[in-house]
Amino acid sequence: MKLRYSEAFYSVQGEGKFVGVPSVFLRTYGCNFRCMNFGLGKNEPMRDEKQKQGIKHNPEVAELIAKDIHNSVEKFEDLPIIHTGCDTYASIYPEFKKFMKDRTIDEVVEHLLSLTPEGKWTLSNGQDVHLILTGGEPLLGWQKLWPELFKHPRMGDLKNVTIETNTTQSLRDDLRSYIEAQDRIRFTFSCSPKLSVSGEPWDTAIKPSIASEYYATGNSDMYLKFVVADQDDVDEVHRAVQEYRNAGIQCPVYLMPLGGRSEEYVLNERQVAELCMEQGWRFSPRMHIGLFGNAWGT
Ligand code: SF4
Repeated sequence: MKLRYSEAFYSVQGEGKFVGVPSVFLRTYGCNFRCMNFGLGKNEPMRDEKQKQGIKHNPEVAELIAKDIHNSVEKFEDLPIIHTGCDTYASIYPEFKKFMKDRTIDEVVEHLLSLTPEGKWTLSNGQDVHLILTGGEPLLGWQKLWPELFKHPRMGDLKNVTIETNTTQSLRDDLRSYIEAQDRIRFTFSCSPKLSVSGEPWDTAIKPSIASEYYATGNSDMYLKFVVADQDDVDEVHRAVQEYRNAGIQCPVYLMPLGGRSEEYVLNERQVAELCMEQGWRFSPRMHIGLFGNAWGT
């Protein structure tokens, strides 16, 4: 089996617990969600309604497809950045499959190592580069490949892995066992459940039983990270956090401003920080947008 991914790049982690840590990102193809509504306002129908109406893409992606951008553009890096809906649209929609890489684990390992400063995870000064599995949704079927990736002889000095997940996918037994048996790699589940503002219906997006699986996985850490723009979103965070707590989960909660455009981020960040201070939640910036703008490979 080959891994299908859209991009791999070296950057600093811009969100969540490991903000500022030099990291290689591996962005897998495919997602069970579409998150069409980010940035479109609260009156948008939810995804199930849109599907009944035959709507599969958010308006910006629909426009790109109507303009044949998916056929006329040659390289992934040249695809336009969009400002609404899922910001990694090319990694989730089948129309953009031609931009994906299908690679064996050997090839993926070589690609990832080639991105690090010294061709290895632990540098000669003792500092280590983190690996971040992101997407799309990296816990779809690809998770059967992750133990093979981590066990690869060239990955022997890898010390930290973060799995950025929408927290809807059950863990495979072999991946869970591998994580629990680790004394080398520290795993972190960065759980980013989607609120209504995404357009994904609550019952499909907030899955405490799945989060419980990650939480119960030995030798790993977990935190929840929510994207919020206004008080409605914050009310939903309270409700979601309570559902996770009812399932026995007591982990740090991060709030991150809705972003994509730097101007939106600036408008939102102070309000979000103040909410975090009130609730004892943690503020997550989108540091990479300030550093690099809204671009691929950051
Ligand atoms: S869960 Fe993440 S990758 Fe999937 S559609 Fe939503 S924003 Fe995109």
